[in-house]
Amino acid sequence: MEGPFGLATIVFALLGFPAGVSGSELTQRAGVQALKFGARLAVPAAAVELNSSPGHHEVRLSDGEVATGRSVIVATGARYRRLDVARLEEFEGGGVYYAATQAEAQLCEDCPVVIVGGGNSAGQAAVFLSDRASECRLLIRGDDVGKSMSRYLVDQIERKCAVEVCTYTEVVELGGERELESLTIADNRTGERTEVPARALFVFIGASPHTEWLQGQLAADPAGFLLTGRDVHGDHLAGYNGSHPLLLETSRPGVFAVGDVHSGSIKRVASAVGEGSMAVRLVHERLADPATAVSPQT
Ligand SMILES: Cc1cc2nc3c(=O)[nH]c(=O)nc-3n(C[C@H](O)[C@H](O)[C@H](O)COP(=O)(O)OP(=O)(O)OC[C@H]3O[C@@H](n4cnc5c(N)ncnc54)[C@H](O)[C@@H]3O)c2cc1C
Repeated sequence: MEGPFGLATIVFALLGFPAGVSGSELTQRAGVQALKFGARLAVPAAAVELNSSPGHHEVRLSDGEVATGRSVIVATGARYRRLDVARLEEFEGGGVYYAATQAEAQLCEDCPVVIVGGGNSAGQAAVFLSDRASECRLLIRGDDVGKSMSRYLVDQIERKCAVEVCTYTEVVELGGERELESLTIADNRTGERTEVPARALFVFIGASPHTEWLQGQLAADPAGFLLTGRDVHGDHLAGYNGSHPLLLETSRPGVFAVGDVHSGSIKRVASAVGEGSMAVRLVHERLADPATAVSPQT
């Protein structure tokens, strides 16, 4: 697991921080603010177990302490898979990206971009960025993008001649002085290397949520991200006795999930922060609702 300061070297592009802000600085400021509001911090201490009885939850910490409450907000984030290539960290936040939103698209307008990954996130990024970039390459390790991507995205990519799909291809080197300028890509069958221009490299090779400590107690999507609100279906609603989870509430009444750890989240700092504040409001709603006293099954 990443430590509480695991993102310390990453510089975030964030509203109000025109020059970006480092993970450690952001964490430090958040810590001061939390203390100001009367929060008790336990650092470093990992949550290792969640136990619930109706209307009461206990989170056991790695140092043996137990935090108790009538509600829990899970914000344990996710671990992004990164490429195993030299100088990656140097370019993260300045050429290597893990999301393709309007913000990143503006940074590489009319520039050559490369996207790595064969899943739907990579496909969506290719469709989105190909209208804005001067060149757009989609790199996959296998032979067929259709094996792991939804048909509608494959169709769109095939229709867009602006996307060049490079099969059996991997990134082996990043090039550039201060900013990313090029990539060396290699054919993983023959080893043949080619240098291609790239002002931005988008990496979509998967992420895994930090949910191992929950030991499967809460309903999750196939990748392990926690289901919340309307995404909680069927048997997973058992704990609600006919009612439904609130937005951001998991399959267990009173337990909420915000930020990267929840299924379908936007995976941005600002949205994680926004969800955190929404969850606090929803906690009050849950505590005021008699349905809180329902059983804690998933
Ligand atoms: C390389 C990179 C660059 C990025 N750049 C940007 C950017 O420029 N702008 C932007 O908006 N977004 C960016 N993102 C996305 C952004 O980092 C996330 O969307 C955001 O940090 C999610 O916040 P979170 O609170 O949900 O999770 P996190 O920020 O990941 O925080 C979760 C915390 O919980 C801790 N934790 C995990 N398990 C446990 C446990 N069992 N007990 C206790 N603690 C635990 C983790 O160590 C971590 O400190 C980037 C992501 C990456 C990987």
